[in-house]
Amino acid sequence: SSWPKTSGVSYKTLQTILLETPSSEKTREWSKYYTSGPHLAGKNLSQALWTKEKWIEFGVENTQIMDYDIYVNFPVGHRLALLEKWNTTSRNSGKGSWKIKYEASLEEDVLEEDSTSGLEDRIPTFHGYSASGNVTAQYVYCNYGTYKDFEELLARNISLSGKIALIKYGAIFRGLKVKRAQELGMVGAIIYTDPGDDGNITEQNGYAKYPKGPARNPSSVQRGSTQFLSFAPGDPTTPGYPSKPGAPRMPVDHAIPSIPSIPISYADALPLLKALNGHGPKATSFNSHWHNGGLYYKGVEYNIGPSPEHLILNLVNEQEYVTTPMWNVIGIINGTIPDEVIVLGNHRDSWTASGAGDPNSGSAAFNEVIRGFGTALKAGWKPLRTIVLASWDGEEYGLLGSTEWVEDYVPWLKEATIAYLNVDVGTRGPKFEASAAPLLNKVLIDTVNLVQSPNQTIPNQTVGDIWDGRISTMGSGSDFTAFQDFAGISSLDIGFGNDANSPVYHYHSNYDSFNWMEQFGDPGFEYHATIAKIWGLIAANLVETPVIQLNATDYAKGIRKYVDSVKQKARSVTGHNGTTHKSLFSSLDAAVSRFHNASVAFDARASELMETLEKNPIPWWKWWEKVKLFLAVRKVNTKIKLLERQFLYAPGLDGRTWFKHIVFAPGKWTGYSGATFPGIVEGIEEGDESGKKKWVGIAGEKIEGAAEWLEE
Ligand code: GLU
Ligand code: CA
Ligand code: ZN
Ligand code: ZN
Repeated sequence: SSWPKTSGVSYKTLQTILLETPSSEKTREWSKYYTSGPHLAGKNLSQALWTKEKWIEFGVENTQIMDYDIYVNFPVGHRLALLEKWNTTSRNSGKGSWKIKYEASLEEDVLEEDSTSGLEDRIPTFHGYSASGNVTAQYVYCNYGTYKDFEELLARNISLSGKIALIKYGAIFRGLKVKRAQELGMVGAIIYTDPGDDGNITEQNGYAKYPKGPARNPSSVQRGSTQFLSFAPGDPTTPGYPSKPGAPRMPVDHAIPSIPSIPISYADALPLLKALNGHGPKATSFNSHWHNGGLYYKGVEYNIGPSPEHLILNLVNEQEYVTTPMWNVIGIINGTIPDEVIVLGNHRDSWTASGAGDPNSGSAAFNEVIRGFGTALKAGWKPLRTIVLASWDGEEYGLLGSTEWVEDYVPWLKEATIAYLNVDVGTRGPKFEASAAPLLNKVLIDTVNLVQSPNQTIPNQTVGDIWDGRISTMGSGSDFTAFQDFAGISSLDIGFGNDANSPVYHYHSNYDSFNWMEQFGDPGFEYHATIAKIWGLIAANLVETPVIQLNATDYAKGIRKYVDSVKQKARSVTGHNGTTHKSLFSSLDAAVSRFHNASVAFDARASELMETLEKNPIPWWKWWEKVKLFLAVRKVNTKIKLLERQFLYAPGLDGRTWFKHIVFAPGKWTGYSGATFPGIVEGIEEGDESGKKKWVGIAGEKIEGAAEWLEE
């Protein structure tokens, strides 16, 4: 061979091993393990130790536990009651005249069919990073609690200050709902799951509810973090640096809520919503996204409120805040080239009694990927590049384990890392979903075409054949965030999702359980095994292909598209005529063209080198030509490895300086879904002309810089 590699295992053989190792039986076994026992962040040491032992047993000897001391809350108590004054006479008589109209259970039902739903030490319903508080006030229905929803409430003169917000889950990250409510002077937030967001598989449509059928169990509650996310992920007391013992700690007010919030089920929301009937305008009188929810058929009219003065809520949330260790499990497989690194990660902590989908479908698959690597190692495989494997703790509270680790190793990661490959929920349904940095589009597409789909309508259909081909941009909501947005490392995130006709996934509920997975989610555990195959093969491609398979042209195409959409937005918001517009964006356009040309030329050079390596082995005695080729490949690989880093801007985004990437960030008011060119977009949306100009300028410089980097 023409490449300095003395492996006993060829790339082809490695691919076969990684396709044949993952089994549904084994993923079922790992799922069974991970879904029993303690899960919560900072409380799952036994599972961290077990994971470490397993990885060593699989053949990754260099596996260790790395911990950080992180500031988090654990639940102590809560209460939610709807209070009503006795009657008109006593309504004016002050103390002692309130009666309890409804006391919320705040508990998920214990189901005989689902053993983990009845565990002694199951995790109460609560919000990560929520504030303690005891408030009694009138309440207002705020739809999804998006920025726009609140704007509409204000526009209709609905008084919000001093009231409690009753908000539906959905549309955006939950912490941003609480953030906006707090900014508008509201004193508490209650977030409930509306079955209207469950797609077609509902009780209303005649489906039996879990555990008898695939519809939502009415008592299910979505736990989850209410950190503000758009400020920074990670430990809120250590933004930008690792939470090591003795590290200085910052105040947290701008990062987490100061008003109390709790999550509730639709069973508990029903009496609250019904009590608003007849009070204030109806949701349907608002804009189109304020339609009725799914409880209309149960008699909820979806009035906005506020509730009248004689109908109020008492909301109590009691949280204990501590600084406590969290445990990442980190395994390293050394490659021949030490400073070309691929990182694979999945979180291990879960909100619920079992977390079969989130994250343990990913954790079970991860073990199968690693068992595959181990099998290859035992057969004599010496990887070309270095592989880092990470089982993160504390993802659920705010991407804690991954963010602290990235902050800890950022100089080395920036120098050495080619890509980060994340799987969070490996499967919760049959629909393949992906988001990726454009540099990784090609390897993703090539790989899904190599893996057989579990749901074939035609024999030999691959996951790629059935996939809709959509690749979302990187937003946030999982452990890729610090890699992509803070360290500038190209990342992807894959998994099988659910669609409108899948059994309802009980996200962050006790019913995200082994029993649910076995009955409804992935009965044969075939999707578990399939996501492991895709994940392993993507890694193998990046580890073993001599010329790194990142595609610069795809990045240039993506950037062209994002710039076009930014221009369109600018035009529609400011109504600028074409000429004004042209002058603002002309240098940016020129930079994009230059970057595109540089990328096309670069990719051509890279594939030429790859062809030379594949087709034209140099005889051993022409050693100097070998050295020349080696150096040329090394140079191309270093260029492409560091390309994503060219888009980092050290001072960070305005108002959220932890985010360093100028092309990708989580949307400021969406959280999960990504914004492209966030600086420019926010300048446009907030009508900030100088901000807009500043960010168009920075984008132009960075894109020029990236072009120059490739041209050199
Ligand atoms: N996956 C977690 C969630 O969506 C992430 C939490 C966070 O980003 O803070 O709740
Ligand atoms: Ca930190
Ligand atoms: Zn997760
Ligand atoms: Zn989660």
